Amino acid sequence: MAEIIDGNAVADEIKDEIVVEKKKLADKGITPGIATLLVGDDFGSRMYRGQVEKNCESVGFNYIDKSLPEETTEEEVVNVVKELNEDPKVSGILPLRPFPGHISDSAVINTIRVDKDIDCFHPFNMGRLTLGEPTLAPCTPSACIELMERVGVEFEGAEIVVVGHSNIVGKPVALLALNRNATTSVAHIFTSQAGNLEKHTTGADILIVAAGKAGLITSDLVKEGAVVIDVGINRVKVLDEEGNPVLNDKGKPKTRTVGDVDFDDVKEKAKAITPVPGGVGAVTNMMLLKNALTAAKMQAGLE
Ligand code: NDP
Repeated sequence: MAEIIDGNAVADEIKDEIVVEKKKLADKGITPGIATLLVGDDFGSRMYRGQVEKNCESVGFNYIDKSLPEETTEEEVVNVVKELNEDPKVSGILPLRPFPGHISDSAVINTIRVDKDIDCFHPFNMGRLTLGEPTLAPCTPSACIELMERVGVEFEGAEIVVVGHSNIVGKPVALLALNRNATTSVAHIFTSQAGNLEKHTTGADILIVAAGKAGLITSDLVKEGAVVIDVGINRVKVLDEEGNPVLNDKGKPKTRTVGDVDFDDVKEKAKAITPVPGGVGAVTNMMLLKNALTAAKMQAGLE
């Protein structure tokens, strides 16, 4: 039975470290701060915005909420980013996507000052990451690596397979692994469609899954003794023993959050595994704070 990697415990450890560093900066008159940029009313983005605000409060960082109505023009959004670039209370800017269709991601992202780009969206920072010189590494991919490093996983020469090739998770986590001298492969939807997913995943000493598909990874796709990092977040219906949806007090189907990995099945075969919730997500939140802190130091010429 696998070691369950406790993301909440790792997140608490990182938070304690951030609080210590924040106090040192406070002595120099510096307070890190995060501004979120939300355009429209996307439910997931609103939830994430609230979480960032709460996390900033919990460590004494500034928090600036830029929530703009759906009809805001691209030019207006870009101007808000320019204001945040100049705002000394803001050390990091986090655009919450998806934006409404009339706003191009790149118009917004390319305007963010590279030393305030705390989730590594800007092409300059992605370039630094590709060169193996990241300053502000992307939060979820860094969370995957941080979780493994804190439980002593070795990367050099390890076979790492990433499932998913998004710009936000799959590609950057593969680069972070490659930068640590792992033998890194990326499987994606076309790998699955070609019937080759199992061929790759069963060779992985470390399997990082970021596909957004509940139950995609079952034990037959996992090597005995592998480390399994589940990035996926999916809402699924709770079913009773006969497979029927369990209803809540309002007569609606109850739901729960699961990852992309069939946790109960895979934990019997893996050496270590992250749960969902309580795994990567908890640490991602702390990596964002950590990047805001690093950004504040960079802007003060301390790093
Ligand atoms: P995307 O939807 O952007 O990317 C998913 C990737 O998985 C794509 O490359 C997709 O390919 C691929 N994919 C989809 N289905 C399969 C399949 N059957 N086999 C192999 N590959 C497949 O999502 P994100 O990368 O943004 O996020 C991935 C998951 O991680 C989501 O569940 C998201 O909610 C979660 N997440 C969790 C975070 C955390 O902090 N824990 C933070 C960010 C995301 P294609 O695009 O070609 O279809």
